[in-house]
Amino acid sequence: MDLIRRSAWGAPATSPAPSLLSAQGVTVHWLGAAWTPGAHSACLSKVAAIRKQHLADTKNDYVDIAYNLITCPHGRVI
Ligand SMILES: [Zn+2]
Repeated sequence: MDLIRRSAWGAPATSPAPSLLSAQGVTVHWLGAAWTPGAHSACLSKVAAIRKQHLADTKNDYVDIAYNLITCPHGRVI
């Protein structure tokens, strides 16, 4: 697995979100439309933009990006 750490896309090294002690399931979310990033750097920019969008979401009161892991078309895990 090619894991891309948070610092690679401009997020703080650790998340302020509480850690999960257990999980009851998995939710898979997709962007909802085809997206062709080209270079992998575009994936990192997209993830940073998603985090910014989540932090601006006052309805859900997110403290960080609302995903545990993201995979990109280059086969990397962010
Ligand atoms: Zn990528």
